Amino acid sequence: MQAINELYPLLNTPAKVVITTHQKPDPDAMGSSLGLYHLLIQLGHEVQVISPTNWAAFLNWMPGCEKVLNYETTIDKSNAILNAADFIFCLDFNALNRTKRMAEVLGNAKGQRILIDHHREPQTEVFAYGVSNVTKSSTCEMVYDFIVESGHKDKLSNEMMQCLYAGVMGDTGSFRFASASATVFEMVAEFKRRGLEHTVIHENVYDNFLENRFRFIGHVLLNRMEVNYEINTAFIWVSKQDLLRYQVKTGDTEGLVNYPLGIQGIKLAALLIDRDEKRKWSFRSKGDFDCNTFARRHFNGGGHFNAAGGESDDSLEANINLFKTVIQNYKSELETF
Ligand code: 5GP
Ligand code: MN
Repeated sequence: MQAINELYPLLNTPAKVVITTHQKPDPDAMGSSLGLYHLLIQLGHEVQVISPTNWAAFLNWMPGCEKVLNYETTIDKSNAILNAADFIFCLDFNALNRTKRMAEVLGNAKGQRILIDHHREPQTEVFAYGVSNVTKSSTCEMVYDFIVESGHKDKLSNEMMQCLYAGVMGDTGSFRFASASATVFEMVAEFKRRGLEHTVIHENVYDNFLENRFRFIGHVLLNRMEVNYEINTAFIWVSKQDLLRYQVKTGDTEGLVNYPLGIQGIKLAALLIDRDEKRKWSFRSKGDFDCNTFARRHFNGGGHFNAAGGESDDSLEANINLFKTVIQNYKSELETF
């Protein structure tokens, strides 16, 4: 993988560009894709954003979201666009398998793949150009750096700022995590000087759920949360029946894993959801517990130090049992703060 600045001169010639991100895009994934989309359109490129799957309704307000293709419902059209692309930007993911059914076509496409990402241990060999920086708060912050460093700060529009702000807000837990560095606040200060209205973005993302989502959260916190103070771990599991009963949609479970982390003394929070064809894991930690390594080792996943995910083909019960067994091996790490 060559450094991203080697790519800048190539962007002066109009090209066919695809921007893609990880499955079930979150605000950082969708925000970085659309932020970059608005820049590349201004530079005269032919650009298509393709999401590997559907996404949460709370992202639909983002300028340009209405033009994004859902790969799973437009496979032939998306494959044709992917195969014709000169450049394929891969944003907010580190391995092609994070694009689910799209991974094969993405891996075989003749266009050059470009990585912009902040997850640990990226698959650098499959990218022609790129930047991977695990110290960055978000891919949105990295797209902002890309805009500035490639000499296009003058093109920063309100649309771009809205998309990028949403992703930084999402990945920093509304600017509370340690990853919210001075450069994050400098970016936000710049956006504010340029007239960004930030309050409405928080409302669009966090105050826009249907009632059923809160009934669902009430149910799982009351009936599905197990707290083990001996190892400072809280665990929530969600069955298919729970999802059905509360009509849980994509995005409704976003942030759920953070509730148990708010319990005094809890160092590790885990959430297991019996999704369509897979069991999906989310892990969040405080302090020195490494979620990325834990998820990689036991649950076919990865991510960041304090936030990671994983997946499994095994049953809900098998996953619960596996978690309860392996977590005992981390007792000494989890006991101390
Ligand atoms: P979340 O728990 O919000 O789904 O994901 C937390 C972090 O872990 C995100 O940065 C996400 O990209 C990453 N992540 C989630 N699921 C997986 C997975 O199955 N595999 C890998 N490698 N990373 C994941
Ligand atoms: Mn991210």
